[in-house]
This record gives sequence, C-alpha cells and structure tokens, in this order.
Amino acid sequence: MPLLHAGVAHLAGHRASDPKLDDLTRRIGADLFARLEGGKPTVFSAKWLDDQLMAWSMEDELVKVQLFRFIDVLPALLGSTPNIVRHVKEYFGLAKDRLPLPMRWGLKILPKRGPIASLVASTAKTNAIRLAKRFIAGSNVPEALSAIEDLRKKRCAFTIDLLGEAVLTEAEADHYQQQYLDLVEGLTAAAQWPTDPQMDCDHLGPMPKVNISIKISSLYSQFDPIDPDGSAAAVKVRLLPILRLIRDRGAFVNIDMEQFSYKETTLRIFEEVFNEPEFRNWPHVGIAIQAYLKSCGDDLARLRDFSKRRGTPFWVRLVKGAYWDYETAIADQNDWEPPVFMNKWESDVNYEKQTRFLMENYQYLRPAFGSHNIRSISNALALADSLNVPAKCIEFQLLYGMADQIKDALVEMGHRVRVYTPYGQLLPGMAYLVRRLLENTANQSFLRASFIEHVSEAELLQNPADNEKPGHDDSPEHKPAATPSHSNTSLETPMFKNEAPIDFSQEAGRAAQREALAQVKKQLGKTWPLLIAGKAIETRDTITSLNPANTSQVLGKVSKASPEQARQAVAAASKAFDAWRDRPVEERCAILDKAADLMHERRFELCAWTILEAGKQWREADGELCEAIDFCRYYAAEMRKLAKPQRRDLTGEENEYFYEPRGVTTVIGPWNFPLAIPCGMAVAALVTGNPVIYKPAEQTSIIAAQMVNILHEAGVPKDVLHFLPGVGEEIGPVLVGHPEVAMIVFTGSRAVGLLINKQASETPPGQPFVKKVITEMGGKNAIIVDDDADLDQAVAGTLAAAFGYQGQKCSAASRVIVLQAAYDIFVNRLVEAAKAIRVMAAEEPGSFVGPVIDEESRKRILSYIELGKKEARLVHATDIGNLAEQGYFVGPHIFADVPPTAKIAQEEIFGPVLAIIKAKDMDEALKIANGTEYALTGGLFSRSPANIARIRREFRVGNLYINRKITGAIVDRQPFGGFKMSGIGSKAGGPDYLLQFVNPRCITENTMRHGFMPAVEKDSNS
Ligand SMILES: Cc1cc2nc3c(=O)[nH]c(=O)nc-3n(C[C@H](O)[C@H](O)[C@H](O)COP(=O)(O)OP(=O)(O)OC[C@H]3O[C@@H](n4cnc5c(N)ncnc54)[C@H](O)[C@@H]3O)c2cc1C
Repeated sequence: MPLLHAGVAHLAGHRASDPKLDDLTRRIGADLFARLEGGKPTVFSAKWLDDQLMAWSMEDELVKVQLFRFIDVLPALLGSTPNIVRHVKEYFGLAKDRLPLPMRWGLKILPKRGPIASLVASTAKTNAIRLAKRFIAGSNVPEALSAIEDLRKKRCAFTIDLLGEAVLTEAEADHYQQQYLDLVEGLTAAAQWPTDPQMDCDHLGPMPKVNISIKISSLYSQFDPIDPDGSAAAVKVRLLPILRLIRDRGAFVNIDMEQFSYKETTLRIFEEVFNEPEFRNWPHVGIAIQAYLKSCGDDLARLRDFSKRRGTPFWVRLVKGAYWDYETAIADQNDWEPPVFMNKWESDVNYEKQTRFLMENYQYLRPAFGSHNIRSISNALALADSLNVPAKCIEFQLLYGMADQIKDALVEMGHRVRVYTPYGQLLPGMAYLVRRLLENTANQSFLRASFIEHVSEAELLQNPADNEKPGHDDSPEHKPAATPSHSNTSLETPMFKNEAPIDFSQEAGRAAQREALAQVKKQLGKTWPLLIAGKAIETRDTITSLNPANTSQVLGKVSKASPEQARQAVAAASKAFDAWRDRPVEERCAILDKAADLMHERRFELCAWTILEAGKQWREADGELCEAIDFCRYYAAEMRKLAKPQRRDLTGEENEYFYEPRGVTTVIGPWNFPLAIPCGMAVAALVTGNPVIYKPAEQTSIIAAQMVNILHEAGVPKDVLHFLPGVGEEIGPVLVGHPEVAMIVFTGSRAVGLLINKQASETPPGQPFVKKVITEMGGKNAIIVDDDADLDQAVAGTLAAAFGYQGQKCSAASRVIVLQAAYDIFVNRLVEAAKAIRVMAAEEPGSFVGPVIDEESRKRILSYIELGKKEARLVHATDIGNLAEQGYFVGPHIFADVPPTAKIAQEEIFGPVLAIIKAKDMDEALKIANGTEYALTGGLFSRSPANIARIRREFRVGNLYINRKITGAIVDRQPFGGFKMSGIGSKAGGPDYLLQFVNPRCITENTMRHGFMPAVEKDSNS
C-alpha cells in the first residue's frame, strides 16, 4: 500500500498523542454539540423538504447520481416543458426500479405536453431554484446585499464570491473582472453597518467589513500552468485593478485555491503581487490553503517565509479542499501519484497538524478555518487556548446555507464567524449547487455523518490520528471509485501499464523540457545517414529538415535513398528474415521492452526533436512519446500471449494452431506522429518476427532516425531494421512493388494509401504471395453538439480537437454539427473562445496553435479557406500578425452555416479549419455525421441519456467519444483506427492489431500407430 505510506509519511511529526489537547478538543466539541440542541439538526438551513429529498437520494447511489445530473442539465433546458419532461423520464427512467412506487407509475404515464407535463416541469424548476437559492445569495448585488444584511443580523461576517469559474473567452474574463469591480463598488458604498466588535474586529482592532473572495483562473481564458509566465502576466492585467479598488475602498481580498495543477501559479501570483511596493504593506489579504494536499505543510512554510520577507502578515484560510474526486480521477487517469491524501482521516489529521502550524505562526499567517467539521473546529479552539493565541486573532469560515446551527453555536460562544457567500446567475449556480450537494452527501462528509446518519458524538469527536494506530483497518471504501484495470493482461504476462505523461503543471517537468530543447538546439545541422544492414550511408543528395516555426533554422540534413538502395535494403531484410523469425519470441519481446525503457530515459530529448521538427506543442509531443512507449510495451505483452500455441488434442490426434510472420515489411510513416505511429507500425512488425524497412515522412526524418537508433540500441539486429529516408515517388514503388516485400504498413493520405493498395495488389512473376496492406488514411471527423450539451465542455472540447496540433491529427475534428436550438449560442461562444487562442512556435510552452508542417500544407489549407469563403460564412479568422514570415503558420479559421455537402465539409483539409453545420434535430445530425466517405473518429456532447445511447448505436465511426475531445487515443484504453475510407486493417494499440502481421498455421498429427497412441495431456485443450 505505497500510497498510504506516502500519505502517512507526510503526516510525520504530527503530535497525535497529546492527551491534554485531545481532551480539551473533545470538551469543546461536546459544548458545541450541546449548543446545537433545541431543534432537529439539519445539514442545510431548516428546510425539511429539501433535507428529505437529500436523505432519500442518499439511500441509493444511482438515484443520487441521476438526481444531481438532472439538476445539472436543468438550466440548459431553457424552461421548455417537453424538454424538461423528456429529461425527467430519461434520468429517472434509468433508476426507475429504485424509485418509490408512485414515482414509477408517474414516470410511466407522464405525458410530454399538456397541463400535467407543465406542472411537473415547473415543479422541477421551482425545486431546483429553491435548492440553489439556499446556497447562493442572489443573482445580483442588491440581492447579495440583502443576504449579507441577514447574515449580519445573526452576527456573521461575510466573504463574497462571484460564481462562474469556466471562463473560455477573453470577453467572459473581461465581464468577470467588471462584475468584480461593480461588486466592490456596490458593496463598499452600501457597507455603512455599525461596527460589531465580535464580527468586525480582530485582536489588533477593526477589520474591513467587506471581504471579497476571488478565483484567479477566471481572470484569464487561457490560464494554463504549463505557461506560468504567460498565465501570471495575463491574470495580473485583470487582477491588479480589482485589487487596487478593493484596497482603496478599505475592503479585504482572499485568493481562493482551485485544483492542484493551478496551485503553483496561484501561489506565485499571490507572492509576486503582494510583494509589489503598492501592496506590500496591505494586511487585508489572504489565501486559501488545502490540507488534503500532501504538500500543504510545504505550502504553509513557504507562505510563512514569504510573510517574513514581506514584513506584513496576511491571512490563510485553511480548508481541506473541494476537488478531492477530481484530483484522484486525474491522478488515476494519468498514473500520477495523487497529490491528495487517500484517506479522509489523513486529511483530518493533516488539518489538525497545519492548524497547529498556523497557530504557532500567527504573527505571520493569520489563521482562518474553513470547515464544518466540529472536531476540526474544536481542535482549532483547543490549540488556540493551549498556545495562548488571542481568541480574536482567529476566525471560522463556513459556507452560505450550510450547517447554520454550527455558525449560530460559534457566534454564541463569542467567536468571529465569516460566511462564504456566493452570488451569481443560475447557470453557473447550478454547477455550484451540484458541488455543494455532492459535498454534503459524500460518504466521507462530516455533515452527512453527523446530521443525516446521526453517528454518535463520541465517534465524531474521535481524534483522527487514532486511525494511525497499528491494527487500524484501512477501509477500501476510502479509495477512489476507479482503480486502473489493465484488462488485456493475464497472470502469466507482465502487466501492461500505460506510460504516465509528464505533469507540466509542475516546475520539474517544465525545467527538464526547457533544458532538453536547449541541448537539442546545440546538435542542429548534423547529417543523418541511411542505415542498410547496419551500414551508415551518407548520400550526396539530402533532405533538409527545417523548423516549421522558423524556416531559417535548419535542423539537419538527412540522406536520401535511391531506388537501388531500396532494393539493397529489401535484399538484406529478406536475407535476415529466417533468423529473425526463428529467434525466440521472448527475446523479441524483451527488445521492445528495452526500447520502451530507452525512450523513457530520453523522453525530454525525443520530445524536443518532435517539438522542433514536427511543430508539436509540449503536451502533444509528450503524449506522442508516451504512445510510442506504450506501443512497445503493449505489443510485447500481446506477442507473449499470441506466441502460445493453441492446442486441441484428441485421443490419437494432435492439433496445434500458431502464428508465423509474413516476411519483409515496409513501414511508411507520417509526419504528424513521427515517433509514435511509425514506432507502433514497426515494432508490431518486428515483434511478430518480420524484418522492417522504414521509410519516414520527409518532413520528420530526424526524429525517425532517433527512433531507429533506439530500436537498434535496444537489440533489433541491424539487418532486420533498415532506415530508408527518401522521396516517396522515388523509392515508394520499390518498397511497395518489390516481389520480396510481403507487407506494407502505411499511415498517411488517402490518395497515397489507395495507390499503395493498388500497387500492392499486383502480383508480378516471381512474387510468391499476395501482399498484405494495412493503411490508416484519415477522416472527416464530426462532433455532434446536442441542444442540452454542457456548452463549456463542448466549446473547450471542440477547440482542442479541431485546433490542437493545428488540426493535423487524423482524429482531429473538422466538422461540428450543432442542433438548431443550441446553434447560435454555441457558434458565438466558440468564436469568442477561438479569438483567445494563442498562435506561436510550438516550443513556447503557451502555444495552443503552432506552425503547420510545410509550405505545401500551408498552401493547401489556405486554398481550402478561400473555397470556404465561397461555400459558407467565415465567422472567425485568426490574425497571426507577421508569423507567416517566420514559418508555416496558418491560424484557426471557423466557417458557420456550412452545407453538409460542401467541399470543406467533405474533404480532409488537415489543418486548423473547422466547419460548423446546423441540424434541425438528432436524426438530421446523425445523417450528416455519417454522411462522408470516412469513418475514423466522432464525438457527441449531450446530457440526454437517450441521445447518448442512440449515438453509441448509430454514429458509425472507429472511435467515438462522448462528452470529451475526440483526439488523444491511448494505447489499450482506446485502440485507434477507422473503416470506410479511413483505413484498411484493425485498430492500432488494440488486441487484434498483431494478427495482421502473421499468417496462422495449423498442424495436425495423427499419433495413433496400430492402435497405440500417447495419452492426451489433460490441459491440452485449454
Ligand atoms: C469558507 C470556506 C471556504 C472554502 N474555500 C475553499 C477553497 O478556496 N478551495 C478549496 O479547495 N476548498 C475550499 N473550501 C473547502 C471545501 O469546499 C469543503 O467545504 C471542505 O473541504 C469540507 O471540509 P469540512 O472540514 O467542512 O468537512 P469534512 O466532512 O470533515 O471533510 C470533507 C473533506 O475531506 C476531504 N476528503 C474527503 N474524502 C477524502 C478521502 N477519501 N481522503 C482524503 N481526504 C478526503 C475533502 O477535502 C472533503 O472536502 C472552503 C470551505 C469553506 C467552509
């Protein structure tokens, strides 16, 4: 259980066994509990109906999920009765067996229209709005003010937060900033409340009455921790005017903490801004720090040191953290060590440990405690007492609409209570509501345990550190829901595991990539030879490899094979075939594993080449590197399985079924995945026992040479793998048509793929077989956007899929089909979001769109753009300034109202050009989506369970993605490949792929001689 140990290690040093402190904590806790008496406690405020609803939903996880999902989609249904009724039926229909009988009947007979339908729809809306209003203090400043005044009457101070975290466009970020400015103006103008020493003063005197909380990622639409410099600079442009206003109006500002990947940049911005001379002496600032993070102790120590340097103390709101499920899911998906503790008690223990740290350093870090957990709160009070921290120096913060009795009890005890009060529109409000509902109903929630499940007071006040004691059962229910399942593995083969990508939100990864880029730049200008049977051949005629982002930079020269050299390579490969075929399978597999290890070791260097030569962004290059490694390890694992002969032995008859390689294999690679795709094609051929001649794409021959060197170094014999860069038109006919070439594996354009297929089908005299062809030829991939889609998700997913790596992936989205009801709003948001996209050289970490691969591509894309202007309405054309003078840049272009049959909606453009097509309903959307000659990838954004089910059945593509981007397939998890004109063959990175590289054989032996035969082994049929 290494994770647990990792977690516990971070907790080392916590004084778990301080009986006096623990006793005091329990006594304070008991006092707090006693003050809650006098009315049945509720999780939220005293709203019986809602608590009943929550209690009911919590009885069944499926019902809860359906209820919360329904609440989440409700605002998108725009009040339409048939729409609401349809979703009620779809969501609750899925959980109908778990519903009370009257609800089941009601669902069955519920009509789509008419008075009963209207009543159900308006009841659903009213209930959701009522629930939302319990957690959200109004939708405008006057409403928020009225809520604040009610709070102050109860002697609760406030901090106000503006809802709306997903900022996709710069206009939205501007609007967000403006709303904050208006909020500060409005609140400070109205804040004429008399000073109440309990609420408004600390141990040093009066404090600001107006207190604002901000999530800084909302101030910049392209906030991305891979580019802390760019993100920090852009955030500051909008943050500073807000801070100046807050300071000038005598208010207080707190910086909220978001997901872990944003933490470094958030801390950096906090330190930089509040160290500026204009803010340095300002004490009324604070930041939230999360105790569920293993790094929390380091964060606080860093902030304490910063406070010392700064010379003016500031506040820290210690919370456990709101993103536990998200953090664990991201870590699980990427095979990263979770940044959070994995057991709830560990977060509780750490909260107490860090509470002590804050108390001990209160001169530098003013302590605020954001918790509803009576044990955590009592511990803070006990520590304040035992460390003689002035009572008024600390405060407790709780969320609006939650645990009101705890607030009342704390106020009654004389403490300062501040209520975190969100306000804003219903749409972001629903997302916030769902988060609060999830938090309250989570299995591990203190509120659920205390107020709903009525766990005993003694248990609730138990010291969380008791869980550290030996013999404590570390219950599995505390683990995240999903654990990786490597389904294709068997007990006998080493478990296949995907390579973990680099977490570029952390400085270590960024520094390594920067350093590798610098190192690779020192190696430019070399000439890379052909490699035929181990002989390095430098040719007079060479291919020049340029940096597509900076065409004056020559990366190197690559030798160019002639047809005669191609023939020599085929002859050498042919000669090496028998020995390679007969080499023990395990040795071939071990070579692949070794190659994977070498790539892992040189990952940053390989990525640097990909970034420079293919114009690929850091994350994209790293994703490709991981894919290459995965191909090696996955095909090695698959080959170990395939190598086991299947036996079907009977009495007197032995049957053996097994596979043998086909023979010399030509691998023709693309430039868009210059490492991963050729690596996958080549190692699949090699591990199954076929010699390989690899002809890379001309544009990316240097990265190809690196790959070949690694495979040789890993142990692939030099006469088995030949490196033959060259011009397709010159050596292609030999590599495809040569009678000793048994198989051609190709990824590239449809035209070339079909040509290869045609050429390969010829059987010249002397060719003893029909050649096998595997091709991957592209797509015209579509995303369907349903009218109930989460548009934040749909816009972000579409942009990533359409313009990531400049739209040059076979899986890229080039059509987006939007249902009529969502059309205008989607187009507007997409265009606004596209305006914020940053076009720059891929080596800049902030690059979203880099250069296209070469001049030919640029010209082709530009000609499609001209065609698009005639066929449809150009709604966005990115201004790329003078970048076109430096490299092969084309900015994203978006066309709307594109007829489904237009050329830009039918032909593969392979660049950052997106066609938006309107569909009147899902029938039409499907017809359009399926209406091209390709069938590679496709996607759907929808929150309708029925439409999701339908699209799964009827959108016929090789890889279908629902509610996410349609690019980025991962080996084994999403085996990749299409059909129709998208390719011939089965999916790369999937269980059938290797079968294409082998011929199956079956041998039957009659073992009976004159009625005598050996005994059949028992497991021979297994
Ligand atoms: C005023 C206020 C402001 C806040 N601001 C922020 C903020 O800026 N950023 C932020 O991230 N959070 C913030 N939160 C915290 C968050 O929203 C939750 O309210 C808080 O984590 C709940 O903790 P608790 O002590 O009230 O409840 P408890 O029920 O004692 O603790 C629940 C918490 O434990 C942690 N947890 C749950 N399961 C596990 C597990 N299996 N392993 C390890 N840990 C687990 C999670 O953090 C979960 O939220 C704020 C909370 C308040 C009250």
